[in-house]
Amino acid sequence: MRILITGGAGFVGSHLSERLLGAGHEVVVVDNYFTGSKTNIAHLQGNPGFEAIRHDVTFPLYVEVDAIYNLASPASPIHYQHDPVQTTKTNVMGAINMLGLAKRLGVPILQASTSEVYGDPEVHPQTEDYWGKVNPIGPRACYDEAKRVAETLFFDYHRQHGLEIRVARIFNTYGPRMAADDGRVVSNFIVQALRGEPLTIYGDGSQTRSFCYVDDLVSGLVGLMENTHQETGPVNIGNPGEFTMLELASQVLELTGSSSEIEHRDLPADDPRQRQPDISLAKKTMGWEPHIPLSEGLEKTIAYFRHHLAG
Ligand code: NAD
Ligand code: UDP
Repeated sequence: MRILITGGAGFVGSHLSERLLGAGHEVVVVDNYFTGSKTNIAHLQGNPGFEAIRHDVTFPLYVEVDAIYNLASPASPIHYQHDPVQTTKTNVMGAINMLGLAKRLGVPILQASTSEVYGDPEVHPQTEDYWGKVNPIGPRACYDEAKRVAETLFFDYHRQHGLEIRVARIFNTYGPRMAADDGRVVSNFIVQALRGEPLTIYGDGSQTRSFCYVDDLVSGLVGLMENTHQETGPVNIGNPGEFTMLELASQVLELTGSSSEIEHRDLPADDPRQRQPDISLAKKTMGWEPHIPLSEGLEKTIAYFRHHLAG
């Protein structure tokens, strides 16, 4: 199959490209390189089945493919809040353009949605039938609400046009090729620890997140796209292991052997207090669950950053 990945030069997209090429597919990556980079996909460029196109998904795209993974969107809070109007455009107009493409071609399309659709959740752990608690006018809204509208569009194209859709709600994912400067907590802590700088904990550090290693996420995305149940989702894809930011910081310090201090900073507005996926649906419908525990994933990510920062 020839498979389109929008946002394919990003962190998750580059791993997904690798996996799909490895399975014998052709991959067409479309990216405007806002947060992704050519370096992330440089090792794939020699592969005859691989092609990258510079393109902004807020504009229509004409390609011929057999399936679409729609990943184009900045994902870290500092990046998606840098140009919030563009973030909404990317997620909403990007979804409309890619759904239109999928409709013309009659091919399945997967949306990289997010646990952010649950906002600061009152239901814990989060199940897919929970509608969420999102501030529609706060600094995170450009991402959260745009991702929610994208889900709406996916389900309306499904109901109205019979389009084959998949919606994955991705929880915090980490691993090699995260951008060192994207401000997400795992990359921040590792880079700070390796540089001997203080680890910046926002607030008192008691807020929780559940971290999924990127290889497990990619298996979940591919499993959802290829699932024989024709499961549309939304399906939570994440690792249920839940950690406070203080616990994460101490694991990073232990695994890097760093003697960095901890420094507390103000908690950003609307920062969710807790987050943990209920993955029963993914287990039941696709037999998917994550296999890589936080300590093992952190070791791999630390090894990547050690090499990356040295070079
Ligand atoms: P990333 O920032 O590394 O990758 C996103 C890619 O999209 C980048 O290559 C960027 O250049 C590209 N892009 C942005 N705007 C674009 C536009 N208008 N046109 C074309 N390309 C554009 O982020 P990521 O972590 O790889 O996230 C990938 C997807 O998964 C995103 O949709 C994100 O919302 C979703 N997601 C990620 C996480 C996570 O923890 N990594 C969690 C939930 C959801
Ligand atoms: N965080 C932190 N220090 C940092 C970066 C983030 O304590 O240097 C916190 C942040 O406030 C949030 C959690 O870590 O509570 C996860 O933040 P991230 O930006 O990685 O993802 P998101 O908030 O989108 O889940």
